[in-house]
Amino acid sequence: MTQETLVVIKPDGVARGLTGQIINQFQEAGLELTRLELRRATADLIERHYPEDEAWLSSVGGKTLADYERLGLDPADYFGDATPAMIGRTIKGWLVDYLTQGPVVAMVLRGNDAVTKVRALCGNTVPVMADPGTIRGRFSSDSAAAANTEKRPIHNLVHASGTPDEADYEISLWFGE
Ligand code: ADP
Ligand code: MG
Repeated sequence: MTQETLVVIKPDGVARGLTGQIINQFQEAGLELTRLELRRATADLIERHYPEDEAWLSSVGGKTLADYERLGLDPADYFGDATPAMIGRTIKGWLVDYLTQGPVVAMVLRGNDAVTKVRALCGNTVPVMADPGTIRGRFSSDSAAAANTEKRPIHNLVHASGTPDEADYEISLWFGE
């Protein structure tokens, strides 16, 4: 089924001059580029881009706790005595700061099952866990622990919509009138 999905190349990807190579990987995989814009994101845009709801915040925090358990790290060393939702809120704050620090490249990609396909090309959220053939695995070795020690979000080069509903919302947020 043909779908559209939103990709944002984050400031680390733009600053490292990887925009062309990242777009290439999507186009080589058969995705069509239908919108493309280099821009500075406002804090308001990023606040609305990442959901404010408890479920999303808890999911980001919960994935973080699972990562720490896998690595044998104590999340209290990084986040104190925080619930998953509180950890998610902290990370969202870091994302707002980070994504407004430098230019980003927003694009819409269209293709067969584009949401799933684009996520697969991007790879795991945490670059050290990402398959080496994916964009995140190929161009980064960042990890949650390294990022959290520096109180910053994981630098994983790209954002890609997670579901068709997220894609509809994000495309109208970034490119709607
Ligand atoms: P994805 O971008 O793969 O959809 P999420 O939606 O779970 O991942 O998280 C949004 C963004 O938050 C990630 O891309 C990453 O930059 C950042 N992030 C997620 N977990 C952490 C973490 N434990 N520490 C720092 N940043 C994180
Ligand atoms: Mg996500």
